[in-house]
Amino acid sequence: MATVLFPDIVFGPIHSRRLGISLGINLLPLKRKFCTFDCVYCECGLGEMFTENPLPTASDVEEALRAKLQALKAEGVTPDVFTFAGNGEPTLHPEFPQIIEVVTALRDEYFPQVKVSVLSNATQIHRDEIRQALLKVDNNILKLDSAFDDTMRQMNRPWNPAYNVADLVKNLQAFQGKLIVQTMFLKGSYQGRSFDNTTPEEVQAWIQKVAEIKPSSVMIYSLDREAPVKTLEKIPVEKLREIAEQLKKATGIAASVAG
Ligand code: SF4
Repeated sequence: MATVLFPDIVFGPIHSRRLGISLGINLLPLKRKFCTFDCVYCECGLGEMFTENPLPTASDVEEALRAKLQALKAEGVTPDVFTFAGNGEPTLHPEFPQIIEVVTALRDEYFPQVKVSVLSNATQIHRDEIRQALLKVDNNILKLDSAFDDTMRQMNRPWNPAYNVADLVKNLQAFQGKLIVQTMFLKGSYQGRSFDNTTPEEVQAWIQKVAEIKPSSVMIYSLDREAPVKTLEKIPVEKLREIAEQLKKATGIAASVAG
């Protein structure tokens, strides 16, 4: 099983194919994934259960980020973006709203031109405090991998058996356009069942859902690094571009493609 865990609260800057030069912020445990999903493509590896490990406090994040920003200033390095990512789902952190305040304040103090991005699986956006916090960042990037519950379950493997796409779409609509939808396209099989979210039926239904959500834009991509499930197939960038064109033609919404 592939497992790439981020060993620090603040990591990088690294080159992100979707966001540019990115300084990563990991609010999750340093030794184990903490997530409400267990995606077949997760770079952190597959988990046994999502579990609360010791998490860094808002003060830990402030201290680590301030030290890193001071070092970057001294080196003359300016990132494009601060990105909440790392070993799981950042919005699960109990102090997530406070940490957004801390990080945006430090951004304003050290690099006011830098964007703040959150990569989230969207499972916590029904909570008002999480939605309000996400509305404060520049790039609120939320996951929608399929319009169909069955495919979503195979790809994302939510721990909550009641999690479903209809509720997700309603919760995404509550952002009133202040969000970016992110979608992983891939095909493969796991535990004897196959899936492919690039079939014409899947793509048409996904376009319909994106039209209902009305995001400011969409990010589409396929596998980048080694995935924990070996039967997964990366979708060629030409196919991703075709899907982006179909979306644009049908809805007017632009999609960036990271192959
Ligand atoms: S949502 Fe992200 S962190 Fe969570 S299992 Fe999926 S890929 Fe991994």
